[in-house]
Amino acid sequence: MKFQLPADEAGRLLKASINGELPDARGRFGPFGGRYVPETLVPAFERLEMGVRDYLHDADFQSEYRKELREWVGRPTALTHAPRLSERWGTDVWLKREDLAHTGAHKVNNAIGQALLAKRLGAKRVIAETGAGQHGVASAAACARVGLPCSVYMGAVDIQRQAPNVDRMYRLGAEVVAVETGDKTLRAAIDEAMREWVTDPSGIYYLLGSAVGAHPYPYLVRELQSVIGTEARQQMIDQAGGLPDAAFACVGGGSNAIGLFYPLLGDDVELIGVEAGGTGDGLGQNAATLTTGTPGVLQGSYTMILQDEDGQVQETHSISAGLDYSGVGPEHALLQATGRISYVSASDDESLEALEELCETEGILTALETSHAYAYARKWSQENPGKRVLIGNSGRGDKDMPTLTRFPVRIRTDAS
Ligand SMILES: *Cc1c(COP(=O)(O)O)cnc(C)c1O
Repeated sequence: MKFQLPADEAGRLLKASINGELPDARGRFGPFGGRYVPETLVPAFERLEMGVRDYLHDADFQSEYRKELREWVGRPTALTHAPRLSERWGTDVWLKREDLAHTGAHKVNNAIGQALLAKRLGAKRVIAETGAGQHGVASAAACARVGLPCSVYMGAVDIQRQAPNVDRMYRLGAEVVAVETGDKTLRAAIDEAMREWVTDPSGIYYLLGSAVGAHPYPYLVRELQSVIGTEARQQMIDQAGGLPDAAFACVGGGSNAIGLFYPLLGDDVELIGVEAGGTGDGLGQNAATLTTGTPGVLQGSYTMILQDEDGQVQETHSISAGLDYSGVGPEHALLQATGRISYVSASDDESLEALEELCETEGILTALETSHAYAYARKWSQENPGKRVLIGNSGRGDKDMPTLTRFPVRIRTDAS
């Protein structure tokens, strides 16, 4: 069941979105977003909202943030042409290389921005949640950089599955808190971090990792990640001879996708978000929230979620831990409802195949999350030969080696 907006309403909201007028004063992206949190959390969110309003677009803060992006993250990240992939696909393929950002993915753009904000707000320590550990690693690194102690909440099940990243967080100086409640994965880790936040909302800063949750997080994360699309837009003009016909990004919570797409919303560029199609369309077989979900409230936001007919949030499945979440950012829910962005999915198998193809043609081991974007871009290319394509290469795949070793590489017997 697709969520539909009346045509005039969709047009009005899309225009507001392009003009930078969303979220509105209540933190809403049309019908989506908002702040559905328990009374005990309201003061913490109000404090954060005030901090975002006072500092985020302040000239001092922006110059400090830009300096860290340049001197520590290594921005601007490159836009690189993919000649051999282009030849295979029949389109002209360009990659925005967030894998080349410090710590190996786009998540650091958000982590360092929020760590600087935590400093401005006078926080004494930072807490963060993590699923696969990528946001935990970025947060640990960013907190070390600004000199704040950091505790990362992580489900006990994920700690088992993602041991190398747990070790990275420790070495970067963070404390890792094992969450034994609920599903013992990302959802429980977020709940537990929120509980800790309530105990000292002025001393603790909660550093959320994607464009999800209650207002102002979806807005804050979008603003910090938009650097991806702003750079890519200019780089396409300078290096590729013009804007792409289509841009692709994978969608978990939606932070790298909104970062790439937001600065392109007003352009004549087809925008396509690719979710985790897992092993099939059934509930529990995928994490394709926008393509198969329904509207509901999850972790403080009204958005598209994976739930059963009684409103019980469902477990998800994806080969990629970073896409394995039953919700999605509310701004994506709106942009789907307006028709501006199309959301599709790629299966586990298609994504593994795409990952292998990219390795072999371009010498780039991309993340399993990112390979979903390649899998769909490849299909799209078959139907749109000659077009110019931009892919958000959200991260590198070294972290996925434990998963990848379970799938044998085709044995190359060709001696020629
Ligand atoms: C975490 C992660 C994602 C998914 O998160 P979004 O918020 O949807 O961007 C995608 N790619 C990589 C490399 C990641 O680490």
